[in-house]
Amino acid sequence: MAEHESLEYGKADFVLLDNVSMEEFMANLKLRFEKGRIYSYIGEVVVSVNPYRAMNIYGRDTIEQYKGRELYERPPHLFAIADAAYKAMKRRSKDTCIVISGESGAGKTEASKYIMQYIAAITNPNQRAEVERVKNMLLKSNCVLEAFGNAKTNRNDNSSRFGKYMDINFDFKGDPIGGHINNYLLEKSRVIFQQEGERSFHSFYQLLRGAPDSLLRSLHIQKDPKGYNYIKVGGQIKSCINDSADFKAVADAMKVIGFTGDEIQTVYKIVATILHLGNLTFGVDGDVTLIENSKLVSVIKDLLSTKEENVQKALLYRTVATGRDIIEKQHTEQEASYGRDALAKAMYERLFCWIVGRINDIIEVKNYNANVHGKNTVIGVLDIYGFEIFQNNSFEQFCINYCNEKLQQLFIQLVLKQEQEEYQREGIPWKHIDYFNNQIIVDLVEQQHKGIFSVLDEACMNVGKVTDEVFLQGLNGKLAKHAHYTSRKCPLCINHPSFTCRYSVVGFIDKNKDTLFQDFKRLLYNSSNPVLKGMWPEGKLSITEVTKRPLTAATLFKNSMISLVENLACKEPYYVRCIKPNDVKSPLLFEQERCRHQVEYLGLLENVRVRRAGFAYRQTYPRFLQRYKMISEFTWPNHDLASDKAAVKSLLQVCGFDHDVAYGKTKVFIRTPRTLFCLEEQRAEMV
Ligand code: ADP
Ligand code: MG
Repeated sequence: MAEHESLEYGKADFVLLDNVSMEEFMANLKLRFEKGRIYSYIGEVVVSVNPYRAMNIYGRDTIEQYKGRELYERPPHLFAIADAAYKAMKRRSKDTCIVISGESGAGKTEASKYIMQYIAAITNPNQRAEVERVKNMLLKSNCVLEAFGNAKTNRNDNSSRFGKYMDINFDFKGDPIGGHINNYLLEKSRVIFQQEGERSFHSFYQLLRGAPDSLLRSLHIQKDPKGYNYIKVGGQIKSCINDSADFKAVADAMKVIGFTGDEIQTVYKIVATILHLGNLTFGVDGDVTLIENSKLVSVIKDLLSTKEENVQKALLYRTVATGRDIIEKQHTEQEASYGRDALAKAMYERLFCWIVGRINDIIEVKNYNANVHGKNTVIGVLDIYGFEIFQNNSFEQFCINYCNEKLQQLFIQLVLKQEQEEYQREGIPWKHIDYFNNQIIVDLVEQQHKGIFSVLDEACMNVGKVTDEVFLQGLNGKLAKHAHYTSRKCPLCINHPSFTCRYSVVGFIDKNKDTLFQDFKRLLYNSSNPVLKGMWPEGKLSITEVTKRPLTAATLFKNSMISLVENLACKEPYYVRCIKPNDVKSPLLFEQERCRHQVEYLGLLENVRVRRAGFAYRQTYPRFLQRYKMISEFTWPNHDLASDKAAVKSLLQVCGFDHDVAYGKTKVFIRTPRTLFCLEEQRAEMV
């Protein structure tokens, strides 16, 4: 008996449970975790539990075991799903995607990296130099993105603070020839503030700890993070991360990817500028707002390659157009601090997006002539933040949880709904399975005019004083009767399918407007450093030319989610569902309640039910015959039966698989993957 069939390790596929109940599901998950079997299946969905220890299951030998195999031939593994996605792409020219979900610290990013490594390892057997180059870039890009987009949080020492979707493009031989990264909603508030016990983005500490003295001197940066207001808030200066070694690795990666020397210098200058900005303080003298430590302004102007007076002016005044007049309005002390923080956050966010853009420039498929080379296919890998339910939930959590509801909706549509509808269409007897369709929650957030995002945008459009309170009243007016919305006084509550999350509306208006005074944009655009200037094209506009309001953060996020889902929906999806076994990063502890909750909101039990009621494989009769007709003398080389359906029937009867099959109107449905596997084997013997 194959290792993965031995009961000692529980059931490798949850579909094989004797009874589909939460108790059995959890018992099996726990047993497998305790036996070191961190991967299981629900059909073709991988369920992964974070082992919190190094596992010896990702090496070359393991890769060899999975290469080119069918899913059910080997114990459950990420490599199997990566191989399945790869095979579908190569054999059937299908675009595929691998969607990795789970909460923070569940192991999504690690999984995405193993998947990339696997794909890199099994491709390019001929060692073509160009393909090797692309693979190297794709792998190296991770290191740079993590430096600027990841941070230590209380949940994860290396938490991704942005969502990432990466396309890998393949040529007709199945070798990677390029890629493209989309990033989503960087948590930029972290630039100026961190919760107790957390850090800002790794890049800051890496610079302080790893940069050579000469570089630090030129940036006017001292080594001690405690000297910088922005990055000392969380109190967690140290962590188990080796910032100094990482600095060198990132610098090296930027070079390998192809960043120029000037570009790399500018990256450091921006990081340093942000640190200095955090130490700028404002005061008042009479009715004049002033900068208390103006020496810093001189440092900043050097780093930004601009004039001191321009920096000073942008920090203390804003230009406003009133009718025909253009006046310079002095900030209050409070406005000046707000502006400084907004500048720091915006510069960092822009830097991050610019880095992603540069990587894309370099890894993008170029000069690819599809007519000559055949179809260029894609595997997408999505590693995006999972549900977040904290003590204090704000605008960021609201967006993140909306994103997860959208992805869950896609899962429901692709896996649950489509499946049931297809059986009905094909006239196959089918017992309806109840599941919660979360479209109602997606609508609650994103619907035009009525949704929470619309109400928020409306509130932000109002001139005059708009407060978070006014926004909340607006919500209560429109949504009081909604089954999934409640609000008492301050918190805005969404009843998600398996949990309720309270969001504090404080800061929603500000974060949604996301105002950065045009004066700052102009300041950066007018820099004599072309790299920096290039990051701020909209600074070109003078105040009278700025007519359109920039889109709000909510609208931008909503649009990016809608296009993400559209993009995923047209690909063949593969799922990895990650579970975090405990909150203390322990390899031994399986916290029952915590895990059960995740199984619930990931909808895994429904997934098992649908899968069990369903069929693993389906194919139209003609295509099925095309592939397997050589197995039977009735069908090889041609059959003389009344229909393709009849021919498929006789073929499967002869092989003894009739019991595992249902015959629909246009398609044959095979219940267990094993049957398909046997068919494949028999076919291989014949050809
Ligand atoms: P997420 O992206 O879901 O927030 P990560 O992938 O960053 O979580 O994983 C968090 C931490 O858990 C990692 O830094 C690592 O220590 C541990 N971890 C996750 N997956 C594995 C794995 N397959 N093997 C060993 N450790 C893992
Ligand atoms: Mg992550």
